[in-house]
Amino acid sequence: MTRKYNFCAGPAALPEPVLAQARDEMLDWHASGLSIMEMSHRSAEIVAIAEGAEASLRRLLSISDDYAVLFVQGGASSQFAAAPLNLAAGNARVDYVNTGQWSKKAIAEAKRFADVNVVATAEDTNFSTIPAFDSWQLSDSPAYLHYTPNETIGGVEFFWTPEVNAPLVADMSSTILSRPVDVDRFGVIYAGAQKNIGPAGLTLVIVRRDLLGKASDGCPAMMDWKVAADNDSMYNTPPTYGIYLAGLVFAWLEEQGGLAAMESFNRAKAEKLYGAIDGSDFYANPVEVQSRSLMNVPFTLADSALDKTFLAESEEAGLLNLKGHRSVGGMRASIYNAVGEEAVDALLAFMQDFEQRHG
Ligand SMILES: *Cc1c(COP(=O)(O)O)cnc(C)c1O
Repeated sequence: MTRKYNFCAGPAALPEPVLAQARDEMLDWHASGLSIMEMSHRSAEIVAIAEGAEASLRRLLSISDDYAVLFVQGGASSQFAAAPLNLAAGNARVDYVNTGQWSKKAIAEAKRFADVNVVATAEDTNFSTIPAFDSWQLSDSPAYLHYTPNETIGGVEFFWTPEVNAPLVADMSSTILSRPVDVDRFGVIYAGAQKNIGPAGLTLVIVRRDLLGKASDGCPAMMDWKVAADNDSMYNTPPTYGIYLAGLVFAWLEEQGGLAAMESFNRAKAEKLYGAIDGSDFYANPVEVQSRSLMNVPFTLADSALDKTFLAESEEAGLLNLKGHRSVGGMRASIYNAVGEEAVDALLAFMQDFEQRHG
């Protein structure tokens, strides 16, 4: 077996020890005689697995009892609708920041259920910047302010938290667990699992309890955070295997030393990669330096006619999924928690070699 280096933006690399443990436990989990996938979600085993995963996540992010942790389905994209449905009953006013493709999708969906005010947009810089906070056109008393702390496609990340007089709602799909975050600053945090948490099919929602119970009458039960909270995420059959794998990932993160350790590890990887890109005339990254993502690193070649060759040769070298998003072009290396330093080193060696041969 040869495992390759996977720079996919999502579903993304998972820690190898987690996959190995899942393999070992696949047919017979802890001498239960069953696979996790075959167990009732009401069984003592699954309830304990879900509780253990939640407890581990609470330790990692220091989540207080003021917050409910929900394991739901539908991806982050369902939360684009769930946010206004839960918090903006009566077509209430809501504020959104537009910093890229995922913001745009969240805004488009929210417009179906709420009165959306876009407080700032980075469209004029082709989403390579974050609009300065003092330029934001905030509403007087919006139901919430929504933003995307890490734009997975553009590679733009907030290293500051907006300070507003409304609950902050954050789509943290591609940044959660990459570094510590002060959960108390947020009303709602949500994330699809397939970047830094676990397999696709699981979605995480962390919601301050005082925001529960405000859903609009038309909110489907499956999107109502209070229904999920009141039923310990078991109103219907939850993605049990995804919760199990997420629990293994959380345990792995705790073993690594938690999120402060992950931050220094992730910063070291990102600095290496950005350093190599900036140190060359052959590669370029368009994002303003102070907003460069630690997780998603887009880069272009000086001659885009070489893109196809770069992708073909990198794949041959065992470096997978470096193609940039179709809306941006070029390349993108996603270097989530489970992408090791040796993967980044292999990418850098390939990039240097490619530049020497084609530059
Ligand atoms: C991947 C991603 C999404 C979409 O997630 P799904 O789970 O596929 O719906 C939304 N927002 C961000 C920031 C993402 O990275």
